[in-house]
Amino acid sequence: MSDCIFCKIVNKEIPSAVVYEDNEILAFKDIYPVAPVHILIIPKKHLASTNELEEEDALLTGKMIMVARDIARKEGIEESGYRILTNCGPDSRQEVMHLHFHLIGGKKLGGNIG
Ligand code: IMP
Repeated sequence: MSDCIFCKIVNKEIPSAVVYEDNEILAFKDIYPVAPVHILIIPKKHLASTNELEEEDALLTGKMIMVARDIARKEGIEESGYRILTNCGPDSRQEVMHLHFHLIGGKKLGGNIG
């Protein structure tokens, strides 16, 4: 999508600190980190949110979680723990309408996610 900021990051029109890339997934550091480790894992193809997922995307989203797990391992937070979360729609305060999983960790996180 031409006006999507994450599509522009995928297409390297906007710089990002890439930590993982393959033919269908990109992971990069969040520009406003809320924790020492805050990385966004996105599909390269444009999907606005989990609402747009189709049956055929099940493998892709599974791989995104595996990528998040592998990054957590590389970042050394596998044992201390981390969160993987995705926002969907206005009530969740989703800001970027391109599906992304936040990987957050590296500190003791707050207990309230609601
Ligand atoms: P959301 O609220 O779940 O949609 O989260 C969007 C996230 O994207 C926020 O944590 C932002 O800090 C992050 N973000 C927005 N623009 C950029 C960027 O250009 N590079 C990296 N992260 C970004």
